[in-house]
Amino acid sequence: MIYIGNHLTSSKGFEAMGKMAMQLGGDTFAFFTRNPRGGSAKEIVPADAGNLCRLVKENGFGKLVAHAAYTMNVCSAKEDIRQFSKNMLKEDIARMEYVPGNYYNFHPGSHTGLGTEAAVLLIAEALNEALTPDMSTLVLLETMAGKGSEVGATFEELRAIIDLAGLQDKVGVCLDTCHVWDGGYDIVNNLDGVLEEFDRVIGLDRLKAIHLNDSMNDCGSHKDRHACIGEGRIGEKALKCVVQHPLLQGKPFILETPNDDEGYKREIALVRSWMEL
Ligand code: FE
Ligand code: FE
Ligand code: ZN
Repeated sequence: MIYIGNHLTSSKGFEAMGKMAMQLGGDTFAFFTRNPRGGSAKEIVPADAGNLCRLVKENGFGKLVAHAAYTMNVCSAKEDIRQFSKNMLKEDIARMEYVPGNYYNFHPGSHTGLGTEAAVLLIAEALNEALTPDMSTLVLLETMAGKGSEVGATFEELRAIIDLAGLQDKVGVCLDTCHVWDGGYDIVNNLDGVLEEFDRVIGLDRLKAIHLNDSMNDCGSHKDRHACIGEGRIGEKALKCVVQHPLLQGKPFILETPNDDEGYKREIALVRSWMEL
């Protein structure tokens, strides 16, 4: 089995998100650590975070997968954006300790002209400034579609970042099905081959979470436009194979599909029906 859930917003606090996840049929969820488009982070109420931890434990949830703000870019060509992003990363990692032992996923970044090699160094530098030996959170690098100057659209780039990270046991990877497909990995015709390549380049032990999305575009398009499950170019059959893949069992799967609550409820139920086969 896998754990399944979707992206929820945190305006009503942690426990409310846990309850919402359960209402939608989920047993994991993703949440933004702050306004996805902004910088400021809401004050955490420790009792509320504690209530979520209890809810998660009592209901057998999988790991939660927090998502960094989209404005975070630790490898921007602009020094002030890099600094702002590094601070955000440190602050988010500290905040994650209110819900200990979960995952914090972030986009490696866009190099905005610096080039991939320089960006890889900057991303590793940001990680090395932010990771601490005593943190309980695992930081996940997300596989990217390669839109614009995005870093992390190849497994090799992610590996290069991990290689430079001092505290490697604090770093993992989140595989986004839309992003790898758009990045040129053919999970429709060769899922086994893609996972073999992931294992060879990064190591499957580092694969901690899945973003389960269909894609509006073709393999290798580098577009990054998510579609609902079965309504895109990846299609229901291939996404079912991802959910059922023996090497991916036990992991949290997060839907980031363009849905309202009813749509998420339907997709979560659909994915659950695949688990029983
Ligand atoms: Fe993402
Ligand atoms: Fe994603
Ligand atoms: Zn995306």
